[in-house]
Amino acid sequence: MTETSAITPAAPSHDSRPTRVRIAPSPTGDPHVGTAYIGLLNYLFATQRGGQFVLRIEDTDRTRFVSTSEQMIFDALKWVGLTWQEGPDVGGPYGPYRQSERTEIYREHVEILLANGTAYKSFETAEELEAMRQSQIAAKMPPRYNGAHRELTAEQIAAFEAEGRQYTVRLKVPATGSTTFRDELRGEITFDHNNVDDQVLMKSDGFPTYHLANVVDDHLMQITDVIRAEEWISSTPKHVLLYNAFGWELPKFWHMPLLRNIDKSKISKRKNPVSLNYYRESGYLPQAMLNFLGLMGGGMAQPTEQEIVSKGLNTKEGDIFSLAEMIEKYDFARISLGGPVFDLVKLKWLNGEYIRKQSPDEFFATLRSTLFSDAYLRAVGSLIQTRIENIGQFGDMTGFLFSDNVMPPDIVWIPKKREPADTIKFAEEQLTTLEAAAWDLDSITAALKALGEAKEWSVKENFMLLRAILTGSTTSPPLVESLIVFGKARTLDRMRRFIAFQKLPKRS
Ligand code: GLU
Repeated sequence: MTETSAITPAAPSHDSRPTRVRIAPSPTGDPHVGTAYIGLLNYLFATQRGGQFVLRIEDTDRTRFVSTSEQMIFDALKWVGLTWQEGPDVGGPYGPYRQSERTEIYREHVEILLANGTAYKSFETAEELEAMRQSQIAAKMPPRYNGAHRELTAEQIAAFEAEGRQYTVRLKVPATGSTTFRDELRGEITFDHNNVDDQVLMKSDGFPTYHLANVVDDHLMQITDVIRAEEWISSTPKHVLLYNAFGWELPKFWHMPLLRNIDKSKISKRKNPVSLNYYRESGYLPQAMLNFLGLMGGGMAQPTEQEIVSKGLNTKEGDIFSLAEMIEKYDFARISLGGPVFDLVKLKWLNGEYIRKQSPDEFFATLRSTLFSDAYLRAVGSLIQTRIENIGQFGDMTGFLFSDNVMPPDIVWIPKKREPADTIKFAEEQLTTLEAAAWDLDSITAALKALGEAKEWSVKENFMLLRAILTGSTTSPPLVESLIVFGKARTLDRMRRFIAFQKLPKRS
């Protein structure tokens, strides 16, 4: 049974502002299916109301920043068929749309909060904060800022500053009481202030945290409805306190149910490919992916019994709809809060339906734009041109680059002097290493070699294991070059599937 929202759909807008919504992805890696899911919902919401859909890049966390990520986000969202009216790539009246280009704006806004007493400077050093954390953990208290610098006098502040101490700016969460906000899907949600930390708003390097930048931007960009994933609910009381601290009108908040693995845990790359690149590179059709994501929120009405009978519909056909149909029929009041399951079996079924609906010409065009694109064939050809004697050997040598299901027999992947369990453990380390690696010859080679040295696996054993996982065989075209041609998202997925398969309980 899925839980459906008991709350009536949004009352007429709290003001007459035109609808403006946004997605605000952080460029921290491969474009995530969750970004496309939330992107689709925002797109539908805006389009149905004749509003604007904004794409903002939240790149203030420089420790997690990946330079290639922003472009991949644009490409992946365009691939599924989404468009936005404002963003770093298309500009717009409320730019810049990249937070790293807005630091001056955040600094000015922090000054407002410091001046009106809703934020304060906290001068603790990293070591002092760590000691605070440790003593709280030891006392079995939740680690949080203890408020020591909430009420510093002007003299104390001047003294710390004269010492040359760095400071962060924190939100002064009221000591007592609670904050209540309305979630359009869940109704009122209340957080006691003793469960809300004095959030850092600006770090000592002058960069804002997510919370400050997000609220300032949503306000300045005139966002009327914040439609984002449920994992941000616990941040919302901090955001509401910030809106109040600035004296700004609140947007409406819609927290969408998180995508889940089949076992209902939060969607994770250990259990599902979560990179849109994987689906694109594996030849999923963008229409099928978008349709699948549209099923996730539960906002599309299923056909009624009457329609099923009168139109002779197969019930599953109610699951198939285009973007245009979603714009027409998607109903936010129908959204179900039970976590939607990102079920690959269903996605495959849908994709099959879309493939079958194609005309032979369309299907040919799909093949030519995916597995048999000029670029892919050229790259694959370059791997084997010097290694074959007739063209018929092409398939023998490159089949693994055109197949979905590759699983090496035990004799192929377990090195002579290793145990299966150790080998799987090493494969997991290879996976973690490659997840973090830039996808080029030197980076991959260096990362694998460094791992082998650290774990005392010879280059031969190390590369043989990866070759077995990638190709299912002991021989292949050059390994690292093959990984590059196959692509990062598909390589990682193949490794994860290998590991998951080998960890299944074996029949004796
Ligand atoms: N930068 C956040 C993210 O990566 C945005 C969350 C929000 O929409 O407020 O998802």
